[in-house]
Amino acid sequence: MYDVIVVGARISGAATAMLLSKAGHKVLLLDRAVFPGGKAAATNLVHPPGILRLKRWGLLERLRATGCPPIREYGLQSGRARLMAPLPAVDGVDEAYSPERAALDRILLDAAIESGAEFREGFSVQGLCTDEAGTVTGVRGRTDDGTPVTEHARLVVGGDGSNSTVARLTGAEKYGTRPVLNKSHWAYWEGLPHDGRVRTHRHARKHTFTWPTHDGLTIVGVALPTRDFKAGSEEERDRTVVDAFEAVDPEWAAALRDTERTGRWMTGSVPNFLRRSHGPGWALVGDAGYTRDPITAAGISDSLRSAELLAEAVDSAWSTSGGAGLPQALARYGRQRDDLVRGHYRYTCDHAAIADHSPEEVEFIEAMSRSATHGRDMVGVFATIVDPARFYSAANMHALLDHVESGPDTSWKLRMVRWLVRGAPRHIPPARRTGDRLIAANLGSMGEYLLNGPRRPAAHTAS
Ligand SMILES: Cc1cc2nc3c(=O)[nH]c(=O)nc-3n(C[C@H](O)[C@H](O)[C@H](O)COP(=O)(O)OP(=O)(O)OC[C@H]3O[C@@H](n4cnc5c(N)ncnc54)[C@H](O)[C@@H]3O)c2cc1C
Repeated sequence: MYDVIVVGARISGAATAMLLSKAGHKVLLLDRAVFPGGKAAATNLVHPPGILRLKRWGLLERLRATGCPPIREYGLQSGRARLMAPLPAVDGVDEAYSPERAALDRILLDAAIESGAEFREGFSVQGLCTDEAGTVTGVRGRTDDGTPVTEHARLVVGGDGSNSTVARLTGAEKYGTRPVLNKSHWAYWEGLPHDGRVRTHRHARKHTFTWPTHDGLTIVGVALPTRDFKAGSEEERDRTVVDAFEAVDPEWAAALRDTERTGRWMTGSVPNFLRRSHGPGWALVGDAGYTRDPITAAGISDSLRSAELLAEAVDSAWSTSGGAGLPQALARYGRQRDDLVRGHYRYTCDHAAIADHSPEEVEFIEAMSRSATHGRDMVGVFATIVDPARFYSAANMHALLDHVESGPDTSWKLRMVRWLVRGAPRHIPPARRTGDRLIAANLGSMGEYLLNGPRRPAAHTAS
């Protein structure tokens, strides 16, 4: 009998197992894969909130020891707007990394085993045990050689990815569902300069992205709305991606032509949903409970944060009430997880639609590039550091208007918005609500925050 069985031993499962083992609980960690194999390719950018977790758990030095370079600036370019800003610090951590996935998985798995978790690979969970009340009490599965095995625990955690078996068997329903919004081609490139920057561009319904990763390599790719995406041959993909960079950053496109792709093109497409995160005797963590488009590269950071929330909730229930408070603790975990990800999920779905920015939005991004605070916080929104509700608050958007240039290039719409918010010459009083509605019309679903959110300036989230 274990305290916890964790199904899935990668980012979210290994982190949960490590934290609960460290807290003194008896943990069995299972994965059907034999490591390191079996993990679909992904781009693996980890934002500062994820890096902060690794630091807290004493694992950041192991990550750095893999030789993966730090990333300190993120960029968003759209039309003539070129925003490149340093990442805001979260509890002193202002670096992102894009490690090799097998190396990161291994660091977390080793940490779980060192903390005392019992690990069994090649173990596929196929069923759940329940008591008469329907509370989950364990798992049924098979080892690699087909031997059936049943194990029991006070809690079963599904850290088993977006197609979670635990979610299917418990009937955890999805909510906030959005379909696959885009598809991407991406590959590793050799010989590009490593300057510690994530570059993203939006142009002609294409989202190009590139950043330094492990072993001197660079990730290079483009995402297109699903309806525009064509698979194509390897050569056609080279052309699609290099042409997309040519349109937004000719220097980078030239560098791509002068250097070499290593390995084949990969394709990414991910649906968007949250799942009910808990029930009697079970909980979901990581992608099993929340899967989102990779355009904002938040899955690993979110997985580490949700593992921490879940482990804290379970440990506090077991150390204070001997287990009686577990249902309430799991309910608290569910609320905290949703509060943590709700705003960024909305932002991600907006971003993932890859709609071109309107001229007014481009002016806003330009204004952000002139305002150190707004630029840093915009980058912080992307990186799950700054809450979108705060960034897109009326006060923060009004402050941004100070950085919209007053030259001949400023659109009449933005001049009008500024007058409405500030009051026009000849003592015409402000009509802020109308101004807000015009600004909000350019912000997609983020406009809701401006119209309905708190009227406070941007601040960092609790992260
Ligand atoms: C194309 C693409 C690009 C991405 N880019 C980024 C990025 O740049 N940055 C970022 O943060 N995130 C990115 N992500 C998302 C990120 O990969 C996920 O958020 C992350 O892998 C979730 O980790 P997890 O541990 O919850 O689940 P997973 O990594 O999916 O691990 C689940 C584990 O459960 C095991 N398992 C499943 N079913 C069973 C079973 N029945 N029995 C036993 N074991 C089982 C599997 O073998 C697997 O090892 C990307 C995803 C994709 C698809």
